Amino acid sequence: MSLSEREVEELTKRALRDAYFSEREVVKSAPVNVVYPTELNQCLRKSWYERMVAEPPQPERLVLFLLGEKLHDVAGEYFPLGSGEKSFEKTVEGVIVRGRLDRELESCIVEFKSVTSIPEKPRPYHVDQAQIYMWLTDKEQAFVVYVSKSTGEVKAFKVERDEARIQELLRKAVEYSIHLQRGFPPPPEPGWLCKYCEYAHLCPSPQGEESGNR
Ligand code: SF4
Repeated sequence: MSLSEREVEELTKRALRDAYFSEREVVKSAPVNVVYPTELNQCLRKSWYERMVAEPPQPERLVLFLLGEKLHDVAGEYFPLGSGEKSFEKTVEGVIVRGRLDRELESCIVEFKSVTSIPEKPRPYHVDQAQIYMWLTDKEQAFVVYVSKSTGEVKAFKVERDEARIQELLRKAVEYSIHLQRGFPPPPEPGWLCKYCEYAHLCPSPQGEESGNR
């Protein structure tokens, strides 16, 4: 028996999907009172769909996601200071916020992000994620480090702890957990992410419907 090119292509796509779901399994199977920083730094409705409906992302985003995960593994393992890939959790109003850091140093944390092009300033959702990690680890400073997939350029941004923003994010954590417990999605948070959202066809937001019709 021999395989056709088409069959090998489909098997490769299946391998990518399986790798994606294996990475996501921890979040998908978590109890409803456990939430993750990556669920809080984006539209909560999208996070809810990701956990409950769990469709694979569009093929190009699937590959970008897996490349990003690989960078986390490599940079986290070989960064020469501190310790890597540590899990932390804290509880707020009965909700457990659980996160896994790329790197923890004595005075700060370091998060690696793979990007197509290096931004001029850290992206707000990466800053939010860093804020939650600083709360989890009782640190005052974080570094968000971008690595360009196309040029190999590396750029680090220092982020200072912002207590007011942390409290907002923790409120989001509690709200999100309530929606997980009650089994209905949070309100849409229309924005730039809608254009890439795999769940736009389910979402009542105007941006969601627009991108869902692509
Ligand atoms: S389409 Fe937009 S508002 Fe709706 S779930 Fe996706 S990101 Fe959120």
